[in-house]
Amino acid sequence: MELNLSSMSGSGGSSEPQDVPVLIIGGGPAGLSAALYAARAELQPVVLTGMELGGQAALTHIIENYPGFPEGLSGPELGELFKQQAERFGARMVMDLATEVDFSERPFTVKTAGGAVYKAAAVIIATGATPRHLEVPGEVEYTGKGVSYCGTCDGFFFKDKEVVVVGGGDSALEEGLFLTRFATKVTVVHRRDELRAGAILQNRAFENPKMDFVWDTVVNEIAAENGSGVVEHVELKNTKTGEKTKFDTDGVFIFIGHLPNSGMFKGKLEMDDAGYIKTNMHMETSVPGVYAAGEIADPHFRQVITSAGMGAAAAIQATHFLEENS
Ligand code: NAP
Repeated sequence: MELNLSSMSGSGGSSEPQDVPVLIIGGGPAGLSAALYAARAELQPVVLTGMELGGQAALTHIIENYPGFPEGLSGPELGELFKQQAERFGARMVMDLATEVDFSERPFTVKTAGGAVYKAAAVIIATGATPRHLEVPGEVEYTGKGVSYCGTCDGFFFKDKEVVVVGGGDSALEEGLFLTRFATKVTVVHRRDELRAGAILQNRAFENPKMDFVWDTVVNEIAAENGSGVVEHVELKNTKTGEKTKFDTDGVFIFIGHLPNSGMFKGKLEMDDAGYIKTNMHMETSVPGVYAAGEIADPHFRQVITSAGMGAAAAIQATHFLEENS
């Protein structure tokens, strides 16, 4: 993968604009699938992958529901295969971050953290989403010191320890189950008395002897004793009775949904109230020639396969657009 060295050095220096037929912003399943389709249409797409390839899927230790891999495979493995397949047909991966876009005229302008300037005839946005925060006292202070948003990344640090998982969706249970490989006990704290997660994960979680559930409860505060510097307990509050209790734990893993990475596009593209980019079924945004695919445009399905499908659809539409508008 090409590395934008100026971005690594932080120089931010400017360079000559590069003309590209299709620029793809984001290197997760949507961006890499768009790259494959655009490359096979001989549009030599450039993918700004950000600093890590594979998007959120790369943080998943095993993906069991991507068709074609009956035994499952890890997120990083799948990301690497997506990348190799797109590169085989001429896609160019650049490890750099888009920082500024101008969609007011074509070719569109995209500037990067590394100081590159791209002039693109079409743009596909696949910037995904990032984990939502609880926004309680102690969360920011103890991030990396017991608070985490990724079991796959940080689980190892909790070997033989006890952890709390916040949330009741697929992510909470999938990551919670993964954490049972390391932790002696995983307590899922959920604000209702019914999980949102799918049946298979629920069954696995209920059957796992290391998993425990605290219902109708939220985390009010994440704390430590004076000076210890790492998480030691949380304050829990029962949503029905209002009762508050101190619960000892070594770690807090938070999986309460996501926020779209759309700040850069505010005022430039139509969005819904939550900040997801609005598209039609052809992945077209409010600006002709600009497409959005994957979680940036999808608050609902959020699967690797749906994101990949949206990326492919965006690239097919971009190909038609360029045929008609070059
Ligand atoms: P999600 O489905 O939106 O679930 C978020 C969970 O967090 C919900 O249980 C929600 O409670 C809870 N929550 C939200 N805000 C909260 C707050 N402020 N305090 C306490 N709890 C809060 O998010 P997700 O689990 O990340 O899943 C996102 C999407 O990805 C879903 O469509 C999911 O199916 C998919 N996914 C699939 C897989 C898989 O197929 N293996 C794995 C991971 C994710 P309520 O239930 O009360 O709203």
